[in-house]
Amino acid sequence: MAQVRNKQVILSNYVSGFPKESDMEIVETTITLKLPQYSNEVLLKNLYLSCDPYMRNLMDKPEGAPNPLSYTPGSPLGGYGVSKVLESGHPDYKKGDLVWGFTKWEEYSLAPSAQIHFKIEHFDVPLTYYTGILGRAGITAYGGFFEMGSPKKGENVFVSAASGAVGQLVGQFAKLTGCYVVGSAGTKDKVDLLKSKFGFDGGFNYKEEPDLDAALKRHFPEGIDIYFENVGGKTLDAVLLNMKLRGRIAVCGMISQYNLSQHEDVSNLAQIIYKRIRMEGFNATDFYPLYPKFLEFVLPHIREGKIVYVEDIAEGLGNGPAALVGLFSGRNVGKQVLVVARE
Ligand code: NAP
Repeated sequence: MAQVRNKQVILSNYVSGFPKESDMEIVETTITLKLPQYSNEVLLKNLYLSCDPYMRNLMDKPEGAPNPLSYTPGSPLGGYGVSKVLESGHPDYKKGDLVWGFTKWEEYSLAPSAQIHFKIEHFDVPLTYYTGILGRAGITAYGGFFEMGSPKKGENVFVSAASGAVGQLVGQFAKLTGCYVVGSAGTKDKVDLLKSKFGFDGGFNYKEEPDLDAALKRHFPEGIDIYFENVGGKTLDAVLLNMKLRGRIAVCGMISQYNLSQHEDVSNLAQIIYKRIRMEGFNATDFYPLYPKFLEFVLPHIREGKIVYVEDIAEGLGNGPAALVGLFSGRNVGKQVLVVARE
């Protein structure tokens, strides 16, 4: 069996502070497209990769107990993606299956079968959706909003990073539930998108608000029932002052803190006591058991055009470093996808 080229995006050095394109490098290696004998692994052709903020955390030099997913300089990045099975040593998968799960930033990967999360079974929607709305971002928004947020019709919902992969879905789920929903985002165009495309009731550009507390009071004169937290820092501090009694904060992410060696102080935490706020963090994987139920809910809405999804597509592994770094300056509009190959 001949060897073929296997282009990869590797980590050049551990990262501190904001990641740069030069922290990564494109290299060409080779791979034999044949499973080793008696292997129960799966040989994958990677098609679409998901660019995710958590990937920055895996670029840190490990301290203390190592995270098994952490990147090593000289090795390819790992991340979620949509792949085609070329050969399988595991009975659950066969040649030609399309799957989504944890793979590597390279053209072909030899992956343990446990890293495949789901076999793709619905093909009447774009395959790229399995990096976003039908992948990790989707189950995150669904579990985070419905399970952590326990929303009720008529409640007030605030979402930060609202035009992004997760945020745009939370806003739409909130509208479908009959909530009043406002989002924050980092440009005027993104704020316009919240209202014109995703049906939010309002939005503001957090970079142009000198006083976030005042901005929230303007949009939520009666306070916030549910805050879907994506950014942390100053936004969280201002939100805490505006929560209603027995409000819920679903802590999905804190992207404003990922590149800081020392996290910003949040000074209004005592509001959690005074307002009896329930604030809870979660990981997308917590909600994987709900994935079939989630698909039953979301697929009809996509097909009927009642839920839309905006993607930002970068072409080719060579554009991977820029696409990933761009998440931290807000360059992406919607879900950042990286195309490795189209089927
Ligand atoms: P995304 O929103 O599509 O992209 C990241 C966005 O964050 C950027 O476009 C930018 O938008 C915003 N941002 C960047 N730096 C910021 C800063 N300093 N302050 C405020 N906003 C900033 O990404 P995503 O995949 O949907 O992720 C959103 C959040 O959810 C992240 O915190 C991520 O870590 C988290 N997450 C958690 C889980 C989980 O399992 N718990 C799963 C998925 C995602 P603007 O232009 O609006 O600033």
